[in-house]
Amino acid sequence: MTVAAEGIAAGLRGAELGQRLEELLGRDKVLWRPEELLLYEYDGAVDTARPDAVVLPSRTEDVAAVARFCSRHGVPIVPRGAGTGLSGGAIPVFGGVVLSFARMARILEIDVPGLRAVVQPGLINLHLSTAVAPYGLYFVPDPSSQKACTLGGNVAENSGGPHTLAYGVTTNHVTGLEVVLSDGTVVRLGGKALEGEGYDLVGAFVGSEGTLGIVTEITVKLTPLPEDKRTIMAAFPTMDQASETVSAIIGAGIVPAAIEMMDALAVEAVEAAVHAGYPLDAGGILLVEVDGVRDGLDEQRDRILEIVRAHGASTLRVARTALEREQLWAGRKGAFAAMGRLAPDYYVQDGVIPRTRLPAILRHVKDVGERYGLRIANVFHAGDGNLHPLVLFDSSDGEAELERVKEAGREILEACVDAGGSLTGEHGVGMEKNCYMTMQFAGSDLAAMRRVKQAWDPLGLANPGKVFPTPGRCKEYDLRRARA
Ligand SMILES: Cc1cc2nc3c(=O)[nH]c(=O)nc-3n(C[C@H](O)[C@H](O)[C@H](O)COP(=O)(O)OP(=O)(O)OC[C@H]3O[C@@H](n4cnc5c(N)ncnc54)[C@H](O)[C@@H]3O)c2cc1C
Repeated sequence: MTVAAEGIAAGLRGAELGQRLEELLGRDKVLWRPEELLLYEYDGAVDTARPDAVVLPSRTEDVAAVARFCSRHGVPIVPRGAGTGLSGGAIPVFGGVVLSFARMARILEIDVPGLRAVVQPGLINLHLSTAVAPYGLYFVPDPSSQKACTLGGNVAENSGGPHTLAYGVTTNHVTGLEVVLSDGTVVRLGGKALEGEGYDLVGAFVGSEGTLGIVTEITVKLTPLPEDKRTIMAAFPTMDQASETVSAIIGAGIVPAAIEMMDALAVEAVEAAVHAGYPLDAGGILLVEVDGVRDGLDEQRDRILEIVRAHGASTLRVARTALEREQLWAGRKGAFAAMGRLAPDYYVQDGVIPRTRLPAILRHVKDVGERYGLRIANVFHAGDGNLHPLVLFDSSDGEAELERVKEAGREILEACVDAGGSLTGEHGVGMEKNCYMTMQFAGSDLAAMRRVKQAWDPLGLANPGKVFPTPGRCKEYDLRRARA
């Protein structure tokens, strides 16, 4: 597939592009030799593509200069944080320039009375919470990748995490942005205040996956650390019992800070890697946490214990110390990495369903695994109905095996959409699910979204090949759907 065929004018490419960028920014900010580019072919998903050059900006002016240059020469720009994305968002599918924010990773301001921080996009998520902890504050969105992923990536993907059930996802914690548009214009959206005048452009930008522009500064809300927490691990003989318990807890009027679920296969991997103390004979386990002011927490814990017992929990553990709590969470947060104990590769899906449909969809996931002869582990944000089936495979088995794995993933996503859910909860559409957008959106919906994209990025150079179906890559899927 040539770039031109996808509607992007083929512009400056290859070594010449790298050399011209070196002239513009200096040698220490540009990589373009093949061996220097290898690292930027990948992210946390399964697709790869090599950029023509990588730029490591150290300030907004560098980003604006690159964007002006790229718009003059028809070169795609793909922003990149830590490359932990799980939908191929940072993959330069049509080549061009990858902008890596590793050198724009500072906290610019901590405004304690105003409960705000101003940060650069390359800042690692956990570093922010660590820096503001001495003030009794934290940044709420806590993706399980928070030791590595960046705030720029979180903004682009509108990331969630185990604790976003009660407190909301990234968009609920961002009040202002500095953005460089793909023609090099620098704009400021929002600020420290909660509500601005006019259109909510911060809201439009968060979750736009780098397709509307490049964020160079982020103003976030800081939240007082909860006074205390209660963390419960409940193991059930079956996944059905575990999933019915999730709706029962929320139906009882309790909204925990987190309700996470894992199946037996996930527990097997976690216990081999992390030794979190989850029982190996359970069909499914729940990790439930309530937090807030100390008064009343014990009552909430006891009510949850009553509900889990009534649903047949076979093992219960309540963390008595901060260390025990951390151990319980280490299992959940290390679960994706632990999959290496079971298989060399995994392909993770990110479908959302109405919470009450959990038992049926999990049975469907099991059925897909059996039909395709693939092992599928489940580790997910059960309270949000946000599934993460991890399809295990071995990429050395070749392209055909990867295609089979992707097919299994597609069936799971179709079931999620059919159940009234969606294609993605937090990992984004990227280049992995752009062909599937037609499962969920009508042509007129997609056309309205395209008009938004066009208003911000008329030349289509901001992270092309993401979010919207592209005629070349999506042809096969469209044909299959037409036949069906
Ligand atoms: C083990 C593991 C666990 C995970 N757990 C979670 C989880 O619990 N919740 C969750 O939501 N996600 C999770 N993720 C997915 C991923 O970590 C998040 O999507 C994260 O926000 C990506 O951040 P990043 O810095 O790695 O971004 P990248 O992967 O580098 O990029 C992601 C997207 O952001 C865009 N982008 C990056 N920087 C900018 C910028 N400055 N301006 C504009 N666009 C930009 C990129 O173009 C790309 O489209 C997990 C991933 C892994 C590997």
